[in-house]
Amino acid sequence: MLADSFGRVATDLRVSLTDKCNLRCAYCMPPEGLDWLPSAELLTDDEVVRLIQVAVELLGVREVRFTGGEPLLRRGLPGIVARTAELRPRPEISLTTNAIGLARTAAALRTAGLDRVNVSLDTLRPETFRKLARRDRLPDVLDGLAAAAAAGLTPVKVNAVLMRDVNDDEAVPLLRFCLDHGYELRFIEQMPLDAQHGWKRAEMVTADEILTALGRDFTLTPDDPNQRGSAPAEAFLVDGGPARVGVIASVTRPFCGNCDRVRLTADGQVRNCLFARTESDLRGPLRDGASDAELAERWRRAVAVKLPGHGINDPSFLQPDRPMSAIGG
Ligand code: SAM
Repeated sequence: MLADSFGRVATDLRVSLTDKCNLRCAYCMPPEGLDWLPSAELLTDDEVVRLIQVAVELLGVREVRFTGGEPLLRRGLPGIVARTAELRPRPEISLTTNAIGLARTAAALRTAGLDRVNVSLDTLRPETFRKLARRDRLPDVLDGLAAAAAAGLTPVKVNAVLMRDVNDDEAVPLLRFCLDHGYELRFIEQMPLDAQHGWKRAEMVTADEILTALGRDFTLTPDDPNQRGSAPAEAFLVDGGPARVGVIASVTRPFCGNCDRVRLTADGQVRNCLFARTESDLRGPLRDGASDAELAERWRRAVAVKLPGHGINDPSFLQPDRPMSAIGG
């Protein structure tokens, strides 16, 4: 079990498969990209699967979410998914992706054992997409979304980050689009995780603002709070339901007390929080021949010292050195 000293147990593992991405979203990366991790430092497919196996078989992990960077850029993804699906107890397997290329791969990933996807889509306007993601790929994202739904990677969830004066007028159109297509939309408050360290609290579009904007066109009713559990999204029924919309208000309404997540970076470091300032190396011991039990013990120790909260709202908050793209969102 991956328990911390505040009584939380991590059962949801986020695995970053690469720090590389084919977009340059302004809230995440600078236009020129970043210095990517050297390939010798990246876990191989076998190493990734071995660590997931330790997490599932020895540490009680029940959900595995592949992320990045952009996980569809990882050539071995279908094989990694297939091998994860063979583990017992079989974990739920999902993917957070920008969906570029998913139109080609959704069916194969479904066959490999992928259960569902979270697709990032911040705008429906090609011009705004170009400005925000600095690439002209909106049609690919929309094709990927449709392919995910057609392949049964459901419920298809859509993640949207609103940026002031860029796409903050799109809350309603994004929700209409998702309702029309049967996708479940969740807005994520912009967090201080960009590589450029450009996040400013005053510029962040808050959950309150998003809900006010949605409330002008829809009737939102808070979903049963008992259903929320450790889910980061606060859910609302739209016009009486059954459709729902979520808001992940990591900054203004933190939910750290119910956090059940733990992260493995593409270079084999355990992070017990997105905002952790320290990591625990598993790649070194793994390559030095550590047993599964030894790796599990290191992992346990890494989670045991998890802080009670992410600290974004503390005056002394310091943004982690590793950007979101390297940590895996
Ligand atoms: N490339 C994949 C994607 O686009 O979904 C997976 C990685 S991306 C880092 C994972 C999620 O983190 C995306 O939904 C993205 O919008 C979100 N994200 C990245 N930087 C963020 C930030 N500074 N604040 C809030 N969410 C952020």
